[in-house]
Amino acid sequence: MNAASANPESATSNVIQVAVPVPLGRLFDYDCSTVPAVGARVQVPFGSRQLVGFCMGSITPEASEYKRKAVSKIIDQQAVLSEPVWQLLQWAAEYYHHPLGEVLAHGLPVLLRQGEAASYQTTQAYRATAAGQALELNDLRNARQQQRLLAALRAGPLLRRDIVAQEFSLSALKALQDKALIEVFQHQPSAERDWTFAIGSEPLQLNPEQALAVAAIGAAQRPQPYLLEGVTGSGKTEVYLQAMAEVLRKGKQVLVIVPEIGLTPQTLRRFQKRFAVPIVMLHSALSDRERLDAWLDARDGAAAIVIGTRSAIFTPFSQLGMIIIDEEHDSSLKQQEGFRYHARDLAIVRGQKEQVPVILGSATPSLESINNVAQKRYAHLQLTQRAGAARPTRHMVVDIKQMPLKAGLSVPLIERMREELARGQQVLVFINRRGFAPALLCHECGWLAQCRRCDAYYTVHQRQQQLQCHHCGDQQRLPVQCHDCGSTQLVGRGVGTEQLEQTLTELFPDYPVLRIDRDSTRRKGSLQKHLADATENKFPILVGTQMIAKGHHFPHVTLVAMLDIDGALYSSDFRAAERLGQLITQVAGRAGRASALGTVVLQTHHPEHDLLQDLIHNGYAAFARSLLQERQLTQLPPFGQLALFRAEAHEAQHAQAALQAIADQLPHHPELMVLGPMPAVMERRAGRYRYQLLLQCQQRGLRQQLLQHSLPKLQQLPELRRVRWSLDVDPQDF
Ligand code: ADP
Ligand code: ZN
Ligand code: ZN
Repeated sequence: MNAASANPESATSNVIQVAVPVPLGRLFDYDCSTVPAVGARVQVPFGSRQLVGFCMGSITPEASEYKRKAVSKIIDQQAVLSEPVWQLLQWAAEYYHHPLGEVLAHGLPVLLRQGEAASYQTTQAYRATAAGQALELNDLRNARQQQRLLAALRAGPLLRRDIVAQEFSLSALKALQDKALIEVFQHQPSAERDWTFAIGSEPLQLNPEQALAVAAIGAAQRPQPYLLEGVTGSGKTEVYLQAMAEVLRKGKQVLVIVPEIGLTPQTLRRFQKRFAVPIVMLHSALSDRERLDAWLDARDGAAAIVIGTRSAIFTPFSQLGMIIIDEEHDSSLKQQEGFRYHARDLAIVRGQKEQVPVILGSATPSLESINNVAQKRYAHLQLTQRAGAARPTRHMVVDIKQMPLKAGLSVPLIERMREELARGQQVLVFINRRGFAPALLCHECGWLAQCRRCDAYYTVHQRQQQLQCHHCGDQQRLPVQCHDCGSTQLVGRGVGTEQLEQTLTELFPDYPVLRIDRDSTRRKGSLQKHLADATENKFPILVGTQMIAKGHHFPHVTLVAMLDIDGALYSSDFRAAERLGQLITQVAGRAGRASALGTVVLQTHHPEHDLLQDLIHNGYAAFARSLLQERQLTQLPPFGQLALFRAEAHEAQHAQAALQAIADQLPHHPELMVLGPMPAVMERRAGRYRYQLLLQCQQRGLRQQLLQHSLPKLQQLPELRRVRWSLDVDPQDF
């Protein structure tokens, strides 16, 4: 009303409520001459900036309590997201208690967040002219590059970016153009909706368990979630493919979520081989424009299959028919910063909203999903046999108490490796630390090189002659003298991949070693290349971090060794045991994929540990079910519901005080347990002190209610202004 008097026109104008991408949990009112559709993007002034937000609806000027500015620009004529994704994002904002404007922005490709039009852009493309079509190709025999390119263009037009991607020569391109054998034109990509289902290669003959799984999914009366629990190599992917075929045949689309980018090319190839339908990938290696194009393909129905990592769960589809979450236990499905959502959990919600089946696949399902099966919320499909000729793996536990180790390798392990290599097999050594050594120690006085900004030791990187902190990224030159006593007797303590690689090269000079970790795969495409080399057995010895524990097939590997599993056996993290069980089982799954029998060697100081024994003798499925009983006793997830407030600040007491203020504001309720404030596992990181406050509650509904009720008040607390803070609903790591 106050604004109305300032602007005589606005009495007749409209007021719209806009969700703006800012960390404030409310909508903002703007004047607008015409009311855009709900879900259309608008550009609005916000403070000194221009932001892109979403129109959430209109109200009368009288109903608006705020002083208003006018919308700068209406970007979309219609809602930019599909209705189900719009609903999903609103649901997620509420469930995760994250500001709606930020959540909605998260659902968009970057270019759309920046206000670009939601449409394809014309791009330069080339095609053969009539003269080019008529030419005898042999006439170009002295210009091989031109010949090759013309042949390609005679088969069909190519986008300029594809010509570059396929490494045709640009001077050949120009030469052909000068000879008028080819011509450039503006290509307007458009969503070609009417793809038809076609099989590329014949499906495999299913084994009885696979057949049962595919049949169950196809025959379901009502769409529902499935847990496809299949040991590694049991043919889960084949089940996905055949279940998808039914959906695609009906002209519907399929969304496939995979945990890691490293996994996507392999999956893509398998899918491309099977189905002759348009498949698009959504992942971080795409340019913003490519990402938008892929997104439009999905939204407008041009893509039959979309394969992507976690954020692909927000992709709109015109005709979604199925969602598949591969490796549903994988922690990368949870976003760990900003808008902290879990793609698997959102997939279940989306499946319900869109009435499509959701298949969660894993050899090592999360305890959450196992419990959902027990509660009859998911149907259970099991594959207990390895597909084809592959046989199950054997475990061998090596007690390394008092054993001399060479870069972490025990003598029995070295002997087993030697035998395996002599038989022409491939071995994989797994260690979860990259670099040369996890710490630098003074041999004379015991000084350890500690990161200046974190409660952590620097990792020694020999090759780069550096100390690196793996927590904040800090880098230092490798010192030659102890900072305390000046001694030059500095030694690396512990073992990392780099040292392991070096030692293995010395121990087995006849067998080349390939290291796969974050350092060796930094260059674009190098991970792909390393994985291909590993698969083809170009390197008999593989050394890697958990990067290689995920879903890759190394058919020649018959021996897998895990050098040190003790840390996880005695961790304070309640999920550590579950993670260890998953890791051992997944790493073991790399062995014996082909017909040879695989062996997994586990080195430990605690061979008698109950968890380890349970896992080895009873397998992951039984192991997980006994962990689940423990969780029930302690009321931890999936039985208890958690929420975690985090705060960090340059002064420890600020972080602590902020969380204390939150704790004081929370209502007392007999079923709500509040733990903390307490320091995070690593209290200081990148120069900031980190604290946390854990809420534990038996009922999810109650947790939601309490948070809903308290958050508006909490956000006003003056103590929070001095810290960075966040709320994590269903936290994974803390
Ligand atoms: P998972 O995804 O469960 O690890 P995959 O689907 O990758 O397993 O299958 C493992 C291997 O077994 C692949 O090489 C696949 O081609 C093969 N395979 C799967 N199902 C069958 C089948 N029914 N008959 C023969 N080979 C199969
Ligand atoms: Zn010293
Ligand atoms: Zn650091």
